[in-house]
Amino acid sequence: MTETATGSANSRVVIVGGGHNGLVCAAYLARAGRKVLVLEAADQVGGAAVTREFAPGFRVSSGAHLLHVLDPVVARDLGLASHGLSFARSGLDTVALADGEPLVLNGAEVRSGTVSAADRATLAEYVARQRRYAAVLARQHGRIPAPWSLAKFAFDIRRLGRADMRELLRVGTMPLYDLLEDRFESAQLKGALALDGVLGAKLGPRSGQTFFTSLQRAGAYALPRGGMGTVTGALAVAARAAGAEIRVSSPVAKLAVAGDRMAGVVLASGEEIAADIVVSNADPKTTFLELLGAQHLDAEFARRVLHFRTLGCAAKLHLALDGVPEFRGVPAARLGERLIVAPDLGYVEAAFNPAKYHEFSPAPVLEITIPSVHDAGLAPAGKHVLSAVVQYAPYDLAEGWDTGRARFLAATLDALARFAPTLRRQILNAELLTPVDLEREFRITGGHWHHGELALDQFMMLRPVPGAAQYATPVGGLFLCGAGAHPGGGVMGSAGRNAARAVLTGSRA
Ligand SMILES: Cc1cc2nc3c(=O)[nH]c(=O)nc-3n(C[C@H](O)[C@H](O)[C@H](O)COP(=O)(O)OP(=O)(O)OC[C@H]3O[C@@H](n4cnc5c(N)ncnc54)[C@H](O)[C@@H]3O)c2cc1C
Repeated sequence: MTETATGSANSRVVIVGGGHNGLVCAAYLARAGRKVLVLEAADQVGGAAVTREFAPGFRVSSGAHLLHVLDPVVARDLGLASHGLSFARSGLDTVALADGEPLVLNGAEVRSGTVSAADRATLAEYVARQRRYAAVLARQHGRIPAPWSLAKFAFDIRRLGRADMRELLRVGTMPLYDLLEDRFESAQLKGALALDGVLGAKLGPRSGQTFFTSLQRAGAYALPRGGMGTVTGALAVAARAAGAEIRVSSPVAKLAVAGDRMAGVVLASGEEIAADIVVSNADPKTTFLELLGAQHLDAEFARRVLHFRTLGCAAKLHLALDGVPEFRGVPAARLGERLIVAPDLGYVEAAFNPAKYHEFSPAPVLEITIPSVHDAGLAPAGKHVLSAVVQYAPYDLAEGWDTGRARFLAATLDALARFAPTLRRQILNAELLTPVDLEREFRITGGHWHHGELALDQFMMLRPVPGAAQYATPVGGLFLCGAGAHPGGGVMGSAGRNAARAVLTGSRA
């Protein structure tokens, strides 16, 4: 039996939470021969990447709805295709809805819409550069943040060549607003590109760092057949096939500590499970302040965790529709693409402004999918489901979400009606999940997409806080593996994979 700093090879690893990162971590650890038990509080695995019925016969991806950042190494290593993952559609176009003709984009290509030749050429160059930068960032996503990985990151940036490197240093922390205004003419194109910098974030296009956040969206969009639950279902099959045990409906109430090390977990049922390694897929605040307890932490570390910014700003809308919806200027063949409401930069910034003052957007931005166009199994025959991320919906709404929910739903349906005037008449059922609902449904503090704002001051060696940024934590045997750790949220799997490596090497770096 090999002894390592992270327990013996035969000892049990408990993973708190069966979100996609917990499942990825479980699969890698089980493949490495560890005895793994995943304890998920909900009655199904998947966390914020699940499919659920929200109205009789209508199923939807109730958190994440587009797959676009999954680490291909994770997908390949864990054999997700052979474990049930398939796609209803990949390489989705982005259709920027407008009062006039919509603009249809696919990466660097303008598929239709009124855009000047100069803008088309600039877009090709802009997207190519974004992809080169995103590739560098993606390599960093797969590394445990540490001085050596920072050196590799710097080397990767240097290898981009002088021109790209200089430009990255210039624009890296820049507001996307300034960059887009500088480069493009088309208001519609600028609005569409701005959305990529702000989705999932409490940022508007004029906020610093939105160029950086836009790099997280340089991938191609896909709709898993059966919704996002198919992705996490395949991960669960992979983890079980490798030998991991997964228990659902098993909320962990407390992490048990003996001396300064993990001793196991206590379930809400009172059941005690011994383990000398515990990996938490729960968000950092839940992990440290709720499950562990600040009394086991250094005061400065606990203070940093408390100040980790976790106020979500994205809501989720689900509509059950009595037929094929109509969006102005969008042919039926394009309805199943990624539709967005971000008509220009000013609209997006104006949508953000109220969030600073704890108010929701009267005219929100939206990212819409109608997955049943490609995946008939999600809705009864002839009916459809619409899923939309809606911003901005600040968690800390001044009036509170009890009254705010219905008013924000009305504002959201008004925003949709501008582009789909007949949609309201087709609605059989509407569900709006505010960040408060997302917090309750997915057990994510603040209902935040990334378990905590993804910003340069909460990134890499600073994520979630110094002292826990390499998945190991100040408590011996306790690791993080969720979106609150590097490299953040999105259905990527990198945090789970990196955390498994940290457990196996027993190192902090
Ligand atoms: C509205 C919304 C839309 C989004 N859209 C997209 C998108 O289109 N594409 C994309 O890639 N990403 C999207 N995201 C982000 C993505 O869903 C998350 O970043 C990702 O799911 C985080 O995965 P995770 O495994 O780290 O954590 P989670 O998915 O949050 O999983 C954590 C798990 O831990 C469990 N848990 C917590 N506490 C306990 C406990 N005490 N005991 C047992 N279990 C516990 C939870 O129940 C949960 O299952 C979206 C997020 C939101 C909120």
